[in-house]
Amino acid sequence: MSDALSTRLVHATGGDAQFGGVHATIHPSVQYAHERVEDLIGVFQGTNKGAFNYARQGTPTTAVLERVVTELEGGVGSISFATGMAALSALFLTLLKAGDHLVTSSRVFGNTNSFFQTLEDLGVAVSRVDAGDVAAVRAAVRPQTRMVFVETMANPSTRIPDLEGIGALCRELGLLYVVDNTVTSPALCQPKRFGAGLVMNSLTKTIAGHGEALGGAITDTGCFDWAGYPNIFAAYRKGDAKGWGLQQIRKKGLRDMGGTLSSEAAHRILVGMETLELRLTRSSDTALALARHLAAHPAIAAVHYPMLESHPEHQRARDWFGSGSWMMAFELRDAAKLHEVINRLRLPLKATGLADTRTLIIPVAPTIFWEMGAEARAAMGIAEGLVRLSVGLEAAEDLMADFDQALA
Ligand SMILES: *Cc1c(COP(=O)(O)O)cnc(C)c1O
Repeated sequence: MSDALSTRLVHATGGDAQFGGVHATIHPSVQYAHERVEDLIGVFQGTNKGAFNYARQGTPTTAVLERVVTELEGGVGSISFATGMAALSALFLTLLKAGDHLVTSSRVFGNTNSFFQTLEDLGVAVSRVDAGDVAAVRAAVRPQTRMVFVETMANPSTRIPDLEGIGALCRELGLLYVVDNTVTSPALCQPKRFGAGLVMNSLTKTIAGHGEALGGAITDTGCFDWAGYPNIFAAYRKGDAKGWGLQQIRKKGLRDMGGTLSSEAAHRILVGMETLELRLTRSSDTALALARHLAAHPAIAAVHYPMLESHPEHQRARDWFGSGSWMMAFELRDAAKLHEVINRLRLPLKATGLADTRTLIIPVAPTIFWEMGAEARAAMGIAEGLVRLSVGLEAAEDLMADFDQALA
């Protein structure tokens, strides 16, 4: 019998074996010394398993976090990074090269989309398609396609790709399927069930949950056969092929690029993660109540939240996540009143960022999606008056009352 998620979360680290401390120890050392020089050599040659070397490649504290994330994702191994973007950029730069082709959704996180422009500059072709429809993904595949990348729930549109259909397509064609699980987190979705080979989580958001620690992680689910992946360096094509992909990301992506998570941040993320299920359940319930309330308000033109029956992928959200998570977006009927309404709100903080304990509000076109221009915004389905809400832990009644007075 396996324990429920909330039970596993509070016991996940196992504490500190030396003194019985209930938290995993924070290891600040950069250097790790060895009794015998043979042991030091073994660290470099991969024969001294589990030993540490230089903290840029990980510490005993980040290793605990990696183990917990791996368990939550049902994977075979994980690598932690300083931020979600450090994890994503390490993944793409390590596994793709000039001449390769990547298929992705036209609706991805703004900075990820911006990073894809860098990839294009480096000679990687990128196709952005309507990932809600697996036929569009199939039509975009070329002989050079190496990878398909989607987010479980698009930020900020809340649209949900055909995660299952794309997984089946990737299996059929032998493509690496990479899923960004940030908005749902492993508490709502394990992308492994759709056949994702790699899963990325921005630990900053749902998992850490308090807006006071940055982090990211990549998990290998064990679903992808790395033996057939052409971009693995010869040095990492040794031993069991199961470990090749993660080994290359750790060496080329973490060691060489250096976007390393600190032990202190790993500790804060582990503490935040203890209440993951509690926070997510509460903020999802509040988000649904608020979404229903706003959808019925005469001043609101549209509310985008997956657990509303009107959402185009409502059935997918119900079947796959069982919840809508903390993110929603809305549009006012009178766009000219947007600033006034936001300024009148008392509780939501006018701030970027997601999955804090406090509700955050931001109009996305003049901020996060400003740099790309109006044409690209339209292509990504970002309405000019779209407002993103990250619902926190305030009482639903307080948030609803606050919106009522601001919209009055
Ligand atoms: C925030 C976010 C990221 C980047 O994570 P950081 O930790 O902020 O670098 C990536 N993907 C999604 C969907 C996000 O919301």
